Amino acid sequence: MKYFSTKDKNNPVTFREAILQGLAKEGGLFMPEEIPILPKSFFDSIDGLSFQEISYEVAKIFCDGEIPDRDLQMIIETALYFPAPLVELSEQLSLLELFHGPTLAFKDFGARFMALTMEYFIKNSNRELIILVATSGDTGSAVANGFFGVGGIKVVLLYPSGKVSYIQEKQLSTLDKNITALEINGTFDDCQRLVKDAFIDAELNAKLNLSSANSINIARLIPQSFYYINAYRQVKDKTMPVVISVPSGNLGNLTAGLFAKKLGLPVEKFIAATNKNNVFTEYLNTAQFIPRKSVQTLSNAMDVGNPSNLERIIELYNGDIEKIRKDIYSKSYSDEATRESIKEVFEKYNYIIDPHGAVGYQALKQFLSSNDLKNVNGIVVETAHPAKFKDVVEDVIKHEVKMPERLTDCIEKEKKAILMEKEFSVLKEFLLNNY
Ligand SMILES: *Cc1c(COP(=O)(O)O)cnc(C)c1O
Repeated sequence: MKYFSTKDKNNPVTFREAILQGLAKEGGLFMPEEIPILPKSFFDSIDGLSFQEISYEVAKIFCDGEIPDRDLQMIIETALYFPAPLVELSEQLSLLELFHGPTLAFKDFGARFMALTMEYFIKNSNRELIILVATSGDTGSAVANGFFGVGGIKVVLLYPSGKVSYIQEKQLSTLDKNITALEINGTFDDCQRLVKDAFIDAELNAKLNLSSANSINIARLIPQSFYYINAYRQVKDKTMPVVISVPSGNLGNLTAGLFAKKLGLPVEKFIAATNKNNVFTEYLNTAQFIPRKSVQTLSNAMDVGNPSNLERIIELYNGDIEKIRKDIYSKSYSDEATRESIKEVFEKYNYIIDPHGAVGYQALKQFLSSNDLKNVNGIVVETAHPAKFKDVVEDVIKHEVKMPERLTDCIEKEKKAILMEKEFSVLKEFLLNNY
């Protein structure tokens, strides 16, 4: 399979090039040229497959022979060693728990697969790759963990001092080996500007092999399609239609779900659940895409005012908004509604949901009731572990949220970040002296 840029359909590139380049020229996003439909026999016999087996079969389509089968199998087994269970709360409602990875959010799937495919593709080059990432929290820790100990690649994370949560900072700053965390005396925007300046600095680029690993890399979306198919495997009554609610920000997770649907996964409807940052919800309502500045909410990983993957969704449907509306419903919720959902899920099902999943839950509930749908498999994608948002969740449910061991382990480790001023000259000197 070749990959074309949303800004230039005439010059497709290989899987390798799409991953190593990340972003196409002029800011285009890479898209798979054509997504084939998996044979009916695949879905008929899906019950007998494991998550890793499903992932491998789907990955083969996207890699199209560029990684030999045995190596691809190793990548899948190493990257996706943790489960993605579908947990039933009632006959109509299940949660797809995507927080069993090392940093307790679904971004582990994408970041780990991307890290290992990059490692594979640069294995025989003699130039070390240096990945610069600006992060406001979750992405950085998933990327750092994904690349931790990966050969031939070093990661430099930039995060704003005092502006990430205690847990997030621990997740970001306690790794060593090939990961370096820079605690920037500035804002997230300063971190982003520093990374951008580094990418265009001629002297740095002549001396160092710089790359990015941000969320628009197609290698982060591909593995996210695996767990939708794996969720379907776990659905008990496959004669009833499947409706999947995805808590959405940058729309990467939703786009991966749409890839899975293109592969033939029988999903009746996707729901894009948004918080007050509802640019996509408004786009579906008005057919106008008007990016805005993001506002802060309880489901902060969805605080995105200009969702970059919308371009991919529009491309997937050839710009036909009626077709998009047929497949996707969207609704936006306030922090108040988010709190109510957390409470309701706890009281009704004795399940502790995180603020992102809570937005998804509310949207699914509303969609089913306003369409008077009864016999469906409703699935809410639970994107993070509630312990990551311990304060908010405990305040609502008045009940302790237990920390998983992999989180307490990292909290006990020593912070190793290097405090740095926000001037580009300081970062540049640091990179030239240390890499
Ligand atoms: C990143 C993230 C989201 C939003 O996902 P997108 O792919 O950006 O739409 C939702 N929930 C959590 C916990 C996240 O980390």
